[in-house]
Amino acid sequence: MEAIIKPVPRVTPELAPFFAAARRRELVVQRCAGCDLLRFPPRELCSRCWSRDAAWTPVCGRGEVFSFYWMHQVYHPGFAGEVPYAVAVVQLEEGPHVLSNVVGCTHAQLRVGMPVEVTFEDVSDTVTLPKFRPAG
Ligand code: ZN
Repeated sequence: MEAIIKPVPRVTPELAPFFAAARRRELVVQRCAGCDLLRFPPRELCSRCWSRDAAWTPVCGRGEVFSFYWMHQVYHPGFAGEVPYAVAVVQLEEGPHVLSNVVGCTHAQLRVGMPVEVTFEDVSDTVTLPKFRPAG
């Protein structure tokens, strides 16, 4: 039987710098050139000063779980072997929120406020996803 392949995120021009950084094991977010506000996901306009100028900047990769849920439903057969898995909004130490997965922890361990750190998973020959695991 042929293995079912999980869908891989489409690398859009807007997200290309983010995925290039992830490939080299670095987590980056956008920094507004007008007011230094850090933001993720990337946006064309700063929500604080309306500047259109921004650059990608590395962050430390640490944060805490802001919210989460456990995915039990199999919406794509490629994920059948992975349910249940944790989907979480992580608040980075620098402020921005990132939607990702928390790996390496159980139902009992995962909680709001839990310290996490980034880890990287190569999901294809070209795409690497930042995920999070319990810190320390
Ligand atoms: Zn700004």
